[in-house]
Amino acid sequence: MCKLILIKKKEVRLMYYCIFCKNLHHFNYTKDEVVFKSGFHYFDTKLYHAGLCSQVHVFLKNEQPATA
Ligand SMILES: [Zn+2]
Repeated sequence: MCKLILIKKKEVRLMYYCIFCKNLHHFNYTKDEVVFKSGFHYFDTKLYHAGLCSQVHVFLKNEQPATA
């Protein structure tokens, strides 16, 4: 009999350091998120990509009303 070994696949999602929230976020692959390919930030002794989450868009919208 073959013994089935179930290996729980851990979901590996990219994490980035949000320079807006100053915290780590999971990258959800939305167009509102920005992860800088060449920007990095140390957080908790680990190096993460620097990025911006969708919160920054909400903030910018409130701060700067769209005026052409
Ligand atoms: Zn954020």
